[in-house]
Amino acid sequence: MAFVNGLTCRECGEKYEIGPEHVCEYCFGPLEVEYDYDAIASVISRELIESRPQNLWRYRELLPVENEPTIGLYSGWTPLVKADHLARELGVDELYVKDDSCNHPTFSYKDRVVSVAISKAVELGFDTVACASTGNLANSVSAHAARAGLKCYIFIPDNLEQGKVIGSVIYDPVPVAIKGNYDDVNRLCAEIADKYRWAFVNINLRPFYTEGAKTYGFEVAEQLGWKLPRHIVVPTAGGTILPKVARAFEEFTRLGLVADEPWSIYSAQASGCAPVINALHAGSELIEPVKPNTIAKSIAIGNPADGYYVLKAVRGSHNGWGESVTDEEIVDGIKLLARTEGIFTEPAGGTTVAVTKKLIDTGRIPRDESIVISITGNGYKTIEAVTASVKEPHVIPARLGDFDELYATLV
Ligand SMILES: *Cc1c(COP(=O)(O)O)cnc(C)c1O
Ligand SMILES: [Zn+2]
Repeated sequence: MAFVNGLTCRECGEKYEIGPEHVCEYCFGPLEVEYDYDAIASVISRELIESRPQNLWRYRELLPVENEPTIGLYSGWTPLVKADHLARELGVDELYVKDDSCNHPTFSYKDRVVSVAISKAVELGFDTVACASTGNLANSVSAHAARAGLKCYIFIPDNLEQGKVIGSVIYDPVPVAIKGNYDDVNRLCAEIADKYRWAFVNINLRPFYTEGAKTYGFEVAEQLGWKLPRHIVVPTAGGTILPKVARAFEEFTRLGLVADEPWSIYSAQASGCAPVINALHAGSELIEPVKPNTIAKSIAIGNPADGYYVLKAVRGSHNGWGESVTDEEIVDGIKLLARTEGIFTEPAGGTTVAVTKKLIDTGRIPRDESIVISITGNGYKTIEAVTASVKEPHVIPARLGDFDELYATLV
């Protein structure tokens, strides 16, 4: 393991060997992978990264795997779309959409974290992988496990959209729907992980899983021409991706891959599940759990494992902030992105678009600096969210005259 020193407790600094552990036995703080940055600095360069295949393993020195990666060879390197039409609509000069709605193979940002976690599970000798999921994670774990030939158990709430359910079971895992919300699922899975010792990607493999989320931030910086965006808006559920995008920016700066310039990170949540935004706005360090009630099911986590680190990353950035938006604004956000940029995202993405609009309208994000909107999931999985608010097709007989008649009413 050339570049990884081991695991470190984020709170007390206690060190641990690499293994399927995620909580400090002294203070119950979360464990995190620790790297030897001097060793990385001596080998890494823009040219080396650019010479590699276009997948998330191009940043492999900054990811916690020892051997040649075997999982996720087609994941990552999603488009950074220059969003000029949306920019005009929002009244800003320079806007990009980092589009993980087309990530391989299951169309969400979760393909990044799962690629790293399952690669690590294989290295650690596990034959069974599992997860507690709001939907997208289960899709990705199921698909990657199928490809890797691993046994797979997925645990989801019993109220998910059909696309999210079928998008898992098609890969033939053992699917278990829990009567309750994600927080109930997660609580049960912590017990199952203890008892059965499977590789739960977001529980006992969490330190490795979360590292995969850095690749979202690495790609944004590389795709901007080795430059950090001035502002980036990121959705928050359990609190993995936002702090890891911040960490990615810090690592690239530290390694001299990008210039050391100020940047700001913003958290986006749905009003129906906004425990982190509530704490942010209250100036509190304490996250009070909520009972989720929103159409943004993939980010409906009422008791976020890493919510505290979202607050820290937002507050540690240059004038970082966050907002929440109603379900109605979320649907408008989905439709706005689709109408202006031809990208169909799910409610999590609608949340991020709507929050970006709010942050611009309220003056938190200035109009003349670069902005990245983080799109993390795909709208084809969650058609229920927009079915009631989109047009129905015009139904006509297959006769030119009927079309002429319709056309006359349209122009
Ligand atoms: C999981 C997920 C997120 C963010 O979750 P974190 O736990 O905060 O990393 C955002 N968008 C989508 C679509 C997701 O599935
Ligand atoms: Zn500790």
